[in-house]
Amino acid sequence: MSEEKTVTFRGVCTIHCESGTEGALWAFQDERFMHIPVNPDAFLVCVKCQRSWNKARGDKEPEGRCPPGTHEWQNDHPDGLSSYNGLHILHCGDVLTIFDKADSKKILWNEAKRKLAVVDHAQWGVRDPGVRLVGSKRKVSIRKWEKWFVYGFPAELTLGLDSLLDWEKHSRIPAEEELKKLGRA
Ligand SMILES: [Zn+2]
Repeated sequence: MSEEKTVTFRGVCTIHCESGTEGALWAFQDERFMHIPVNPDAFLVCVKCQRSWNKARGDKEPEGRCPPGTHEWQNDHPDGLSSYNGLHILHCGDVLTIFDKADSKKILWNEAKRKLAVVDHAQWGVRDPGVRLVGSKRKVSIRKWEKWFVYGFPAELTLGLDSLLDWEKHSRIPAEEELKKLGRA
């Protein structure tokens, strides 16, 4: 007998670009794995010439388009970094609820009530600029959909069965370990 079990995360919509693949993937970032503080010296960037410098590693100050000694270094990740342990590429069967950025209680997109597959063709690429929402009676314009992901609108993700099995098998333990390390468990 299959046990009804669901796993839901809170976070934001995002777009994941993988090197080596064309286009990008519709994805979700768990908020518990965001804003992880970094050593600012490891991620310096010059605000004038965009040159980067890992001072923490002991690298010498790089040259760039700025005359020697005139770079203006700044932490490139003042809000910290996100971890892959909180990244979920959206798959068919996942249920996603998207909330308004200005009013986090206002639902912009939700298919949970109908228990339908939500996202298919999670690929967003040059050749396939559209998104198909399987089984959805509601239509959403690609422009709206893109905006939610590009600007990281708040969201809730309930894993579909395939995603859940995959997550249990590969991601759950490393994710829990990282949360413990971050003191966020
Ligand atoms: Zn510079």
